[in-house]
Amino acid sequence: MALILFGCSGIEQSENEKVRRRNCKGEYIYRNHDENVIAVPPPAHLPRPPYPWEGNLPRITKEFFRCKGSPANPPIMDKSDLAALVPCTDCEGSTRHGLPILRGQQSVYPILLDLLNYVQKTTAKRVIITSGHRCPVHNKYVDPAKENQYSKHQIGAEVDFYVQDMERRPMEIIQLLMEYFRQTRPYKGVKEYEEFLRYDKPDARVTTKPWYNKEIFIKYHSPSEGRNADNRHPYPYISVQVRYDREAKERVVYDWKRANLGYPHD
Ligand SMILES: [Zn+2]
Repeated sequence: MALILFGCSGIEQSENEKVRRRNCKGEYIYRNHDENVIAVPPPAHLPRPPYPWEGNLPRITKEFFRCKGSPANPPIMDKSDLAALVPCTDCEGSTRHGLPILRGQQSVYPILLDLLNYVQKTTAKRVIITSGHRCPVHNKYVDPAKENQYSKHQIGAEVDFYVQDMERRPMEIIQLLMEYFRQTRPYKGVKEYEEFLRYDKPDARVTTKPWYNKEIFIKYHSPSEGRNADNRHPYPYISVQVRYDREAKERVVYDWKRANLGYPHD
């Protein structure tokens, strides 16, 4: 009985299929490639919405400039002093010593903070300080070359940095640094601050001629220049030195006493 039932149902299904095929009609749809029932707008680039952690960049303070020395760094051989063959060790780190004393308190030159905050605000990208204050021990460890002995990093008057997401566009950042003086009071309209000249002497240790106005000196380091223990990254970077202290109305030059004794340490 069951077999017959199954048999019947099979025949019925194939009959239905035959009827369906007999009755069904098909038509081709003819249209050209540019004939659309629904108009499709051309694709447009939509800017990516910011992630929650973007746009709220912390304001750059002197804390960002603390010496990046660490006792965990292995000793290096000072190639400039092969006769002595004394391994050069790094400093104990910024937990063991402070920032340079400037006008009675631990600080760096405020123009550096103002410039970096201006870059950060204008680009909405994070400024990465690779080298701020270097105590004399860390300064030697970073680069034992004789030319680096008088580095202004030691007196809080120099900074090395690049901008995240703009690592390969340092020239735009250099333009912004110059723009700061043309856009901001009290510099706006004052020729010696607005106007940047090119430094032409060979002692700059970079191939691109640096720029300077009355207050600062800007250096561009290509990816093959200025590599040292603080700048091990593969990006080009910018260094800014302070030339003139506008508040004290005096030139800013390296000073052994300030570099070696002018910061709290053990
Ligand atoms: Zn240090």
